[in-house]
Amino acid sequence: MSLVFKRGYVLGHGIADVLIENGTIQAIGDNLDGKRAINASGKLIVPGFVDTHRHMAQAPLRGLGPDMPLGYYLERVVQHIGASMTVLDVRNSLKLAAAEAMNAGVTTVLDWSAVSAPDQVDAAIEVLGQTGLRVVFGHSNPDDMRPEADAVASLGPDYLPVDVVARHIGLARERGLITSMHVGGQHGGGVRKLHDAGLLGPDVHFVHGNRLEDDEFKMLVDYGCTLTVTPVTELLMGHGDLAYRRFAEAGGQPALGVDVEIGNVPDMFSEMRAGLMAERARGTLEAREMLKAATINGAKAIGLGDAIGSLEAGKRADIVLLTGLEHLFGEDPAVIEGAVVTSVGTEDVHTVLIDGTVVKLDGVLVDHDLRELRELTLRIARRTLAAAAG
Ligand SMILES: [Zn+2]
Repeated sequence: MSLVFKRGYVLGHGIADVLIENGTIQAIGDNLDGKRAINASGKLIVPGFVDTHRHMAQAPLRGLGPDMPLGYYLERVVQHIGASMTVLDVRNSLKLAAAEAMNAGVTTVLDWSAVSAPDQVDAAIEVLGQTGLRVVFGHSNPDDMRPEADAVASLGPDYLPVDVVARHIGLARERGLITSMHVGGQHGGGVRKLHDAGLLGPDVHFVHGNRLEDDEFKMLVDYGCTLTVTPVTELLMGHGDLAYRRFAEAGGQPALGVDVEIGNVPDMFSEMRAGLMAERARGTLEAREMLKAATINGAKAIGLGDAIGSLEAGKRADIVLLTGLEHLFGEDPAVIEGAVVTSVGTEDVHTVLIDGTVVKLDGVLVDHDLRELRELTLRIARRTLAAAAG
């Protein structure tokens, strides 16, 4: 099956056609033909967004904690939501999270799994394989690893003894997987602990990093570790200044994640904007750097840099068509790319392709009904609120 987007403005190329065959970008150029053609005229064609840190099963909790500090969230909410979910709750929550992601042009999510009981994990793996979203499933109970898991999700050295984190990294390495963990959201020193234990490497993906010391950023870069910042959550919950600039200045390529929805919306536009604004408040930064963070840097951060994250022949076809920027198509690419960061929202996500399959067309999700999924998950938020308060 071949598909061609006709005459869109392709990021990095200008006005062109994009030909997709068997889920792969075959060519970007002029006069390309495919079995199915989609008119992309007036649309900006960008790589699908890559969210490298989300606790997907918490999707029903949107807006539950606009004033919630990190400590309260960790002690009250995380405990209840994970433990209280039935298998059906897990299925519906993950469907909701996946549908919200695709609706917003997010084509890949690293799910740092918010559920870890064996029956929940089995349900999660099954349902995530059916949603159409590209999911890197981070198994958050590594001692009970499923062969289908794509990554090890470790709480990390701020919350666990180093020998436990070492065991998690070891389990991942046995399987050739990455380990994804939180670090530095509340205090520094976590990276140094892993460094001193000889555990750092390019297969270790960190999230947050706000309070890390300067030498810890150097360690991350020296060992090829990757880092995701989650701007909205970190700024709202008081993690401190974003690690974006310090990691970038040390030579790293920061990625972006949504993290949790309790004080957030599930799209990368909000993350890019919050990241840009936070860094602009402290210095200069080109807006389009945030678009890189939300696409190619994200792909690289979770070991998928060769497969996704940019529009190139040979890469998997994870592609988004955006409306609303046609008036800029003659401008400097820095303006067009920057405008995706400053001036676009989920309402501008016209068409979404994942692995060559159309999952959103003309502004409408193909296989998912967001309203129905929200209704199915209503009671999860209500129950969690009651339990957290009680
Ligand atoms: Zn997190």
